[in-house]
Amino acid sequence: MTAVVVAPEVGALLGPEGLALAERVPADQGCAVCGREVAGVPVVHVVLVVDGSYRRLAWVHAWCAASAVVEVPGAADAARADGVALAFTALLVSYGSHVVPVLACETLRPVVTCDGPGSEHADVLVLGALADGAELVAGLGADPPRARPGWLVLVDDAHDPPLLVILDVRAERLGEGSLVLPDGWTAAAERVGGCVLYLGPAALADVGENPLARAAALRTAAAGGRLVAGVAGVRRIPNRLTTEA
Ligand SMILES: [Zn+2]
Repeated sequence: MTAVVVAPEVGALLGPEGLALAERVPADQGCAVCGREVAGVPVVHVVLVVDGSYRRLAWVHAWCAASAVVEVPGAADAARADGVALAFTALLVSYGSHVVPVLACETLRPVVTCDGPGSEHADVLVLGALADGAELVAGLGADPPRARPGWLVLVDDAHDPPLLVILDVRAERLGEGSLVLPDGWTAAAERVGGCVLYLGPAALADVGENPLARAAALRTAAAGGRLVAGVAGVRRIPNRLTTEA
């Protein structure tokens, strides 16, 4: 069991939502000071990197640094240059009697934004999706989400596992990565004309490969109000490597 230490000055800037993110130490996150793994160590300290209105959470070993708010001039520009690292998980989810292909998308490192004391804090991915027209999710109910923010998922199955590229309504890359699609996922997407994209911290990377455990984690995150969602079109990229005989 890992104890997560958050200094009062850090907690005051984070607010309850940011605090919930801070207390979930990412499984694949290195210590911001020494780079070695922080998951599984007895005590982890939370550092909040600040540059103007930009906020980034970082986790460090108790022996590497104290929990504190740290001003890092240029951190915002560096983050923009890096882009936000995203993780995708594909799964099939039942809504009533319908089985719908789902793509869950979350930031590998929680990135929170804040415009000043007392303002809302949220995952940058969630904020961007809401601006695109995604809907807030209160649970995985009897019906899948209906919002259509104009997202498009391109599937290049010339690769094994397939390469996925997700485009937003401006045809800018929301993210890309290769991931194993569950059996029947692409066929279901073709049948229902797309997939449901959930964005926000669902901690799916922490639950392993089991499809039931993944679906349960998604349900928990949805019921906790941590996710936003919308319907995305799915298109297979024609196999450009094939040459006709
Ligand atoms: Zn360290």
